[in-house]
Amino acid sequence: MSSRKPSARAKRIEQFREELGGFDDIFAREEQRHDALAERREQARYEKACASKKRYATKGEALLAIEACAEHGRRGLTCYKCSYCGGWHLTSHPWE
Ligand SMILES: [Zn+2]
Repeated sequence: MSSRKPSARAKRIEQFREELGGFDDIFAREEQRHDALAERREQARYEKACASKKRYATKGEALLAIEACAEHGRRGLTCYKCSYCGGWHLTSHPWE
């Protein structure tokens, strides 16, 4: 009876390891899924904040564009330095 114990225990440990291995895999897949989601969000953010906008090389140019817009009745614009392209973009939502 007592001689069977170690092997039964070893078997349980082996089984446990396999289950853990399975969990590791699930976690890894979950992490990949999160990475993919984060990447898509980041891409969407980039499209919205940079790619879809007109780029100004300097703040001066951006401010001139804001002035021009104001002259045409488009007020409330502000500009920000883009962390993606290093240029300047205009926005009507300064909190973005
Ligand atoms: Zn940009």
